[in-house]
Amino acid sequence: MSGKIGTVGIVGAGQMGGGIAHVSALAGHTVLLHDISPDNIEKGIATISGNMARQVASGKLDEKTRQGALGRIVVAKAMQDLATADLVIEAATEDESVKRKIFAQLCPLLNPEALLATNTSSISITRLAAQTDRPERFIGIHFMNPVPLMKLVELVRGIATEDSTFETAKAYVSSLDKTVTVAEDFPAFIVNRILLPMINEAIYTLYEGVGSVEAIDTAMKLGANHPMGPLQLADFIGLDTCLSIMQVLHDGLSDSKYRPCPLLVKYVEAGWLGRKTGRGFYDYRGDQPVPTR
Ligand code: NAD
Repeated sequence: MSGKIGTVGIVGAGQMGGGIAHVSALAGHTVLLHDISPDNIEKGIATISGNMARQVASGKLDEKTRQGALGRIVVAKAMQDLATADLVIEAATEDESVKRKIFAQLCPLLNPEALLATNTSSISITRLAAQTDRPERFIGIHFMNPVPLMKLVELVRGIATEDSTFETAKAYVSSLDKTVTVAEDFPAFIVNRILLPMINEAIYTLYEGVGSVEAIDTAMKLGANHPMGPLQLADFIGLDTCLSIMQVLHDGLSDSKYRPCPLLVKYVEAGWLGRKTGRGFYDYRGDQPVPTR
């Protein structure tokens, strides 16, 4: 038997948690939004409000719907305030020890029937589930960035995840008007397993001098019909995130084909992490992005 999700709790009000709150509230769910930093909850809600205003301006939403959705997002100052949630999605920093601490604190507060999910992009669902009191009601719900725009959600079952948990999570994702793909619990799931080695190869192509930043991005945009070049996409994702996913693939699958490109490592060491730091394979500090190689 599967249940229905009414109230969604979210732990982590950053890029992803905010996006998940945005789409959940628009779908009619009550959202309880928690973060360890009260400032980040405030910033998160301001970002959601601004993003919804943009949707109103472009005719995708009306103002009444926006106000209704914003009214359904409740600040959960303390973790205790998540106690009434039917589903809690953990979208905190990608660090296993952080996630482990959150689950230890959260589980005793929740209704025993409540589902627990993680938005991790790379950590094993089975291992995270084993650190909770409810591995049968634990699942990976992996949203894509930016959440309001991206149609796909990967659902990842841990070894103990029950069918009813999977069905309930699937119904929740469908309520957001998003499409589910099912991935098995192996490093980086489907999208990042395929996407990141392509990006890493583009960086090797640059490293070995086969093409310039501009040549590589133009080649893949016009030659493979990709909406964005791989180096531009890497800057968008964040080069630290790209490196950490390549390391998870390399460690988890023990195959040298996933070896992170030394040039990617060098950019990360330089703190050139892409758009978020103003510089990566492009320099974003002027009016137009300028290739850095
Ligand atoms: P982010 O840095 O924007 O946000 C993380 C938030 O977690 C911060 O606001 C931080 O204050 C909060 N946090 C940290 N420790 C906490 C704790 N103990 N309790 C409560 N809140 C805490 O990160 P993000 O990009 O939103 O990523 C969040 C998760 O989503 C990660 O697991 C990441 O792998 C995953 N993810 C990210 C992307 C992406 O493209 N950024 C895509 C899919 C999945």
